Amino acid sequence: MLDLTRAMTFRRQANLIDGRWVGAAGAGTISVKNPASGEEIGTVPLAGKAETDAAIAAAHRAFPGWSALLASERAAKLFALADLIRTQAEALAELLTLEQGKPLAEAKGEVLGGAAYIQWFAEEAKRVYGDVIPSPFPARRILVTREPVGVVAAITPWNFPFSMLARKLGAALAAGCTIVAKPSELTPYSGLAWGVLAEKAGIPAGVVNIVTGDASAIGATMTDSALVRKVTFTGSTRVGKLLAEASARSMKRYSMELGGNAPFIVFDDADLDASVEGAMAAKYRNSGQTCICTNRFYVQNGVYDAFAAKLAEKVKALTVGPGFAAGTMQGPLINEAAITKVEALVHDATARGGKVLVGGKLHALGGNFYEPTLITRGTQKMRIAREEVFGPVSVLFPFETEEEAVEMANATEYGLASYFFTRDLARIFRVSAELKFGMVGINTGIITTEVAPFGGTKESGVGREGSKYGLDDYLDVKYLSIGGL
Ligand code: ADP
Repeated sequence: MLDLTRAMTFRRQANLIDGRWVGAAGAGTISVKNPASGEEIGTVPLAGKAETDAAIAAAHRAFPGWSALLASERAAKLFALADLIRTQAEALAELLTLEQGKPLAEAKGEVLGGAAYIQWFAEEAKRVYGDVIPSPFPARRILVTREPVGVVAAITPWNFPFSMLARKLGAALAAGCTIVAKPSELTPYSGLAWGVLAEKAGIPAGVVNIVTGDASAIGATMTDSALVRKVTFTGSTRVGKLLAEASARSMKRYSMELGGNAPFIVFDDADLDASVEGAMAAKYRNSGQTCICTNRFYVQNGVYDAFAAKLAEKVKALTVGPGFAAGTMQGPLINEAAITKVEALVHDATARGGKVLVGGKLHALGGNFYEPTLITRGTQKMRIAREEVFGPVSVLFPFETEEEAVEMANATEYGLASYFFTRDLARIFRVSAELKFGMVGINTGIITTEVAPFGGTKESGVGREGSKYGLDDYLDVKYLSIGGL
């Protein structure tokens, strides 16, 4: 039997508002299900406008105190938070696997990745530098300082329910902002766990508030509130556009990490084994449910068959099962809607001439389990050439020339991640310059790290998370013109 005792110490079936855990006040609850079994894990409050307003007011009251701390004092709290996450990593990973489904080892990686973001921003808190600009006027000085924007509203998705909030919380708290966060209703416990962690790390009441519930009511309250000065969102392009439009009404700043449609190009001169390894990492992690997962493989004709054969071997070797089962490499998809979408895209691909090399159907385990799938003979007419699959399905599209590959890779409204494999140095620089994406993985399938700027161009959003650039989105520039000197 699975012992979930320690995971349950982090499960809160309430919202954190102004340092108090508040249950569902008559408004009802949301049932949270384990995607591997369909069983209910618990419930969380179905909060709406009133609770969100209360959380925003609490964050607003806490802002003067938190932003006035020395940067080193805020950093100390964040270091404590990062340490706590690392010591509680097993419990947090179990809670994450329970509600999200990913293999326990991946969940632990996500939790430790979250700690790394907090640690990074703790370090950066002390480096929020300003400027002294040479004055064009006599007896005058020009200074530039950077100040926290104020109350931040954060909305996060279900695919990385722990680390997506780490990126936002870490940057906001380091900058001196206070925050109201809304995790996904599908995976709220990893979000609410941040409330438990913040309390244990001694972060004052009201600095971190977490509400769960009616997404559109909470989102609208956040965007309509004059007290909220910034909205940070990770999720679909559709919802991102709604929130950006609504934020514009009160000229709020916003950062948007939205959908992707990552190309992965394998050139004839690539190291084939390395590209297969990169392909596995960039495609099948989290069962293909990441916004930087490869959606389209473009493989040059000279290596097409060899690459397909090697990749097929690896895909066949993926062990599918519940995230807690030993040896599981791929867990379930998040819910039935995800399965329906993957099935439709695979059906469309095969109807348009795609050849299934591996998988191609529901897994024998049933429920939300889908077979890791590999399809060859991809054509640009297939829906998967344009739509984000968000599942464990690879389609290989052949190409002849570099120009053709780049053109197909760029033929999307998205611009988040892209990947290519080649051993030609000149091509590395040429193709990197031509790809219209915010991130380019060259001879690697893994690009996420807290020290680098994560984010996209085009309809994949605006703003960057992680790295020194990640803090800028939480800071306003203030210019001081000092005369009479
Ligand atoms: P996905 O398709 O990955 O679930 P969504 O954009 O629907 O992406 O969800 C990401 C986050 O956005 C979740 O926390 C969800 O609750 C939230 N969300 C969905 N609709 C809205 C909305 N109208 N306003 C604010 N947040 C929303």
